[in-house]
Amino acid sequence: MITATHAARLSPPGPDWRTLWRDAVTDPAELLDLVGLGHLADHLPAGDAGFSVRVPRGFVARMRQGDPRDPLLLQALPQLAELDVVPGFTVDAVGDMAARSAQGVLHKYEGRALLIASGSCAINCRYCFRRHFPYGDEMAAAGQWRKALEHVRHDASISELILSGGDPLSLATSKLEELTQGLADIPHITRLRIHTRLPVVLPERIDGAFSQWLADLPLQKVVVLHANHANEFDADVDAACGRLRDAGATLLNQSVLLRGINDDAETLTALSERLFAAGVLPYYLHQLDRVQGAAHFEVDDARALALVDAVRQRLPGYLVPKLVREVGGEPSKRPV
Ligand SMILES: *Cc1c(COP(=O)(O)O)cnc(C)c1O
Ligand code: SF4
Repeated sequence: MITATHAARLSPPGPDWRTLWRDAVTDPAELLDLVGLGHLADHLPAGDAGFSVRVPRGFVARMRQGDPRDPLLLQALPQLAELDVVPGFTVDAVGDMAARSAQGVLHKYEGRALLIASGSCAINCRYCFRRHFPYGDEMAAAGQWRKALEHVRHDASISELILSGGDPLSLATSKLEELTQGLADIPHITRLRIHTRLPVVLPERIDGAFSQWLADLPLQKVVVLHANHANEFDADVDAACGRLRDAGATLLNQSVLLRGINDDAETLTALSERLFAAGVLPYYLHQLDRVQGAAHFEVDDARALALVDAVRQRLPGYLVPKLVREVGGEPSKRPV
């Protein structure tokens, strides 16, 4: 167990994560300026192409200067291509997200229940289904949780609770404590899984209080990160991963296959190597959700399979992610 003084020592130096969250870049022209591309501001789509810009400054600092093709920049910067209307790319690519999140809990897969703990994110990824459902974090209201926990309590086949979103770590640690206190008397829950991009885009979130909460949980803990490119890692992200592992979490990563960002064998190989260097195993490589405004990121299945094959020839099996797609109504992710 980690003592209070130990926990305090575990906090990263510098400003509190909430301050850094609020200080995120939200103006695309400023984002371009910060990476030495201010002259491209005339090419931005009007109205942020319908999905506001948000990217923490620490993540911006990992972008290359003067490179309009930078793989981190392309995940955050609005593009004119987002305005293209492409058949098959809809506002509702993965089922009615708004309705699903209103229920609070998704129990589609055997043994696992997924709780939409928060709709907020520290970064707005241009390819995300959230671009059409910029819901707030009202799902975290205590009443909503009670309903979700009641469902979990009454189904003894559920052994794993997944906190997802949005990003569940956008919630205050005290909120997370409230939630897991509600789990304490549900004996069939043995694992807690957290799906989060925050350790990558705002590693300061993994502070002393959070580490203490995680370490003290009497459950097995899995944290599934979301990184798409090796350049998303730096010493701060490594340190956040270290704090998560010290708190007893197994670390996995899911990526989205994105054209122009990580759709070549070298980049995917480097990502797996970099993940492992940070103590993280690759888990899933997702085919894109077909959301309107994201068509320019799509990689077709034949190329996706060839890419994963090429990675398989270069890396040990445990560093090869599973290529999957989410199909509504199926009992698991579907292998491509
Ligand atoms: C993706 C997902 C899960 C987790 O699936 P794993 O294959 O266990 O990672 C669970 N529930 C829902 C509703 C999901 O969409
Ligand atoms: S962090 Fe995840 S949920 Fe949030 S915008 Fe990015 S892809 Fe979407």
